[in-house]
Amino acid sequence: MTIFSKIVAGEIPAYKVAETIDYLAFLDINPLAEGHVLVIPKKEVDYLFDLDDELYTGLQIFAKIVATGLRKAISCKRIGVAVIGLEVPHAHIHLIPMNNVSDLNFARPKLSFTPEQLHATAEKIREALKQDE
Ligand code: AMP
Repeated sequence: MTIFSKIVAGEIPAYKVAETIDYLAFLDINPLAEGHVLVIPKKEVDYLFDLDDELYTGLQIFAKIVATGLRKAISCKRIGVAVIGLEVPHAHIHLIPMNNVSDLNFARPKLSFTPEQLHATAEKIREALKQDE
């Protein structure tokens, strides 16, 4: 079971920002920027491009919805998108609020926020998404 499946199952906590029957979005615990979000299919599939077409396109549409709320919640120029997947073998898309191209540099040291800050960021994103409903 991947660490993300444990989040889906509620076995370990996460700062969730959006959820559907098939997908989940939560804050990356070692973010490159405030509001760095991961969107995942709940189904445990390692490689993003191994998802079947329906689950894959659904994930992209879910990512679009989350990115729209994210951009309202966090001051930034754009939401950057990245797929890495070298660390956690459970398909996921990184959504990263960005102002400069260096904001998407995964080799950079990660930021660290307190649990209170992460909680507040997740709340801001959830609120922005509610306004889009
Ligand atoms: P990668 O598989 O290379 O795309 O990286 C996995 C990402 O998941 C990294 O950015 C980690 O910081 C993030 N991550 C790992 N464990 C957790 C967790 N329990 N909650 C939130 N994010 C996580």
